[in-house]
Parts: sequence; structure tokens; C-alpha cells
Amino acid sequence: MTIGNYRIYKCPLCEELFGMFTLRSGNLFGAKHFSDGKLYAPMMPESPQITVCAFCDYNFWIDDLEVFTEMSHIEVLESEKRYPLARFLNLEEYIEVLKHKVLYDSFEREYYIREQLWWAFNDRVRDKEELFQADNEKSIWKENIHWLHSFNDKEMRKLQIEIDYINTQYPKIELLELMKDRVR
Ligand SMILES: [Zn+2]
Repeated sequence: MTIGNYRIYKCPLCEELFGMFTLRSGNLFGAKHFSDGKLYAPMMPESPQITVCAFCDYNFWIDDLEVFTEMSHIEVLESEKRYPLARFLNLEEYIEVLKHKVLYDSFEREYYIREQLWWAFNDRVRDKEELFQADNEKSIWKENIHWLHSFNDKEMRKLQIEIDYINTQYPKIELLELMKDRVR
């Protein structure tokens, strides 16, 4: 994996700066591919599409921003200023974002949030934790599965959502493949 330039962006609310790295090249060495479509690829990490500002907690889509400046890896290391990296939301944050329709103005964005939320629930199963850890989570999980079930199209995800949809109890996530040496 080779890291490319860092893109520095401004939070649209408080205007503090944060960074996001780009990948010059990556590979699927050690990657795990799960039956819900999630790909865990340590040598080809994905960047979040929606994030939360580390300074003011504002949620926004990175695509909507212009790149403020770009820096090389060395420039970032040598810089005195530390830029927090854009991070993925957590399960509670995806639930919160879903409540505010103004935060997702297209089908694609709603699908993205709901798929990330679904994976965040499934991550608990992957980590051998309890699927539901708060009182309201089961109904949120169920509503989300129903929504995704009515729209999903990719075969593998379709299969997995069918299983979850029928059970509406507990997802059965399988590790499909351990990948190595596959470069893309
Ligand atoms: Zn901010």
C-alpha cells in the first residue's frame, strides 16, 4: 500500500481543517470479504463519504467540499499543525443522521447511510458482541433491513438481506473469502 497526497478540507461550519489521505496503490492482501458485502481490506482502506467534524460535531459529505490544499506525506509529518483525519461515523451517529433527512438529499446517499448502519450492526456480530445494545435498536435495525431489502440489487447483498429479512432476529454473516495477492 502506498499513501498518496493528503487532501486538506475545511469544515463547512467552523472552518477548522481536517485531512484525508489518498491511496496511490493498494492491494487485497489479508482482506476479508463477508456475505453482507463488507470488505475489510487493511491494505486498501476506504475513506468515509460522510463524516463528523472533530471540532464542532457537524455532519457533512466530503464530496460537497472543495479541497482546500494538498500536502505530501512528508509535508504532513513536518507540519507543526496536526490535522485530524476524517473518520467513519459510528452506529449511534448513523442512526442520528438518518433522523435528519436534510443530511441526505439523494437516494444514493440514503442507501450509503443505511448500508453503513447495517454493516455497523453486523460488525457487532463479527466482533461476537450482542446485536442490540440499547432498547430502541431492534426496531431501528428492522426498519433499516426492510428499507434495504426493498431496494438492494447486488446479488450477494441481496442474499444476505433476504436472510436477515426473513429472520428479523439475528444476521448470519459468513466469511466468504480470505483474499491475498489480489491487486486492483
Ligand atoms: Zn467544524
